[in-house]
Amino acid sequence: MPQVDYYDILGVARDAGEDDLKKAYRQMAFKYHPDRNPDDPEAEAKFKEAAEAYEVLRDPNTRARYDRYGKEGLGGNGFGGFSSSDDVFSAFSDIFGEFFGFGGRSARGPRPQAGSDLRYDLTVSFRDAAAGTDVALKIPKEVTCPDCGGTGAAPGTKPETCRHCGGAGQVHQSQGFFRIAVTCPVCRGQGTVIAQPCARCRGRGVTTEIKEISVRVPAGVDNGMRLRLRGEGEPGRNGGPSGDLYVIIRVGADKVFERQGQDLVYHTEISIVQAILGDKIEVPTLEGVESMEIPRGTQSGRVFAMRGLGLPHPGGRDKGDLLVHVAVAIPKNVTKKQEELLREFQKLDEQKPMKKVKDFFKKAKEAMGN
Ligand SMILES: [Zn+2]
Ligand SMILES: [Zn+2]
Repeated sequence: MPQVDYYDILGVARDAGEDDLKKAYRQMAFKYHPDRNPDDPEAEAKFKEAAEAYEVLRDPNTRARYDRYGKEGLGGNGFGGFSSSDDVFSAFSDIFGEFFGFGGRSARGPRPQAGSDLRYDLTVSFRDAAAGTDVALKIPKEVTCPDCGGTGAAPGTKPETCRHCGGAGQVHQSQGFFRIAVTCPVCRGQGTVIAQPCARCRGRGVTTEIKEISVRVPAGVDNGMRLRLRGEGEPGRNGGPSGDLYVIIRVGADKVFERQGQDLVYHTEISIVQAILGDKIEVPTLEGVESMEIPRGTQSGRVFAMRGLGLPHPGGRDKGDLLVHVAVAIPKNVTKKQEELLREFQKLDEQKPMKKVKDFFKKAKEAMGN
């Protein structure tokens, strides 16, 4: 198995000086930097390989051992190399700061985190859902503490540089020949500590406030629809974007109308005389009253559609219909005079059900007689 040669990897002579090594590594690190070679495993391997070579050669002790015994001479535990680019950044944060003017992949300090999304259940009345409305939501939100401006330190004081890590946020631990960087346990990587926490936010830097957010509920919204308010969720951390606020709509019931999607449903009764002779009736709408023609001979249960008198589609132009369900009311009691007239009517009615039944039996008998 060919021996990895750290000098070859960096492309330097075996007697290269400290500055030559650094210069060579700097070139390699720049060339194979993951930010310049995204999703390129080959570049990442070279980037780690170069880091490993430089880690060994920059220290005169490990370099001497390597020169004499090769890679095996680097100790019983051996040097396993870097498993990821992030390991390289944390081990060489000092060098990367010097090389690129920042601590590796991105700015120093904790990574930005996006804020969480929030959900708010909003019940609107049937009529508000139909016409659209503006609602002021009161939402508890975390905001930057007004007393300390988000530092978490009591007003008049400042977060102090962490003495444990000197403000770097990382401390180095020795492991064999190598020093590895770990997050500072005292300041948890922040680089600062708060001696006197802000009383209002207890050092958190944020407080909970009731924030009023006005929401435009578009006309025609239905149960379960959700409105998305970008950036009105929880604030992000370390410069990350805020989450979104989702408003879930519930629509209340109405005394007059029912709802079927964007159609309105209205139930009404007409008399038998109106059903037989036809009539004009009044139908309530969302805006007022419209008159509707009942044609002669209307059957109970018939549905008339009044076009465009339903609900608008949110964000659209066309509207649903107003569906008028007509039931014929049969009177339970009639006056004597009404009864006389009805019997008179029955005599004149050629389509008497009883006559039909008699005809049916007559025809059936004739058929069987054959
Ligand atoms: Zn505060
Ligand atoms: Zn610290």
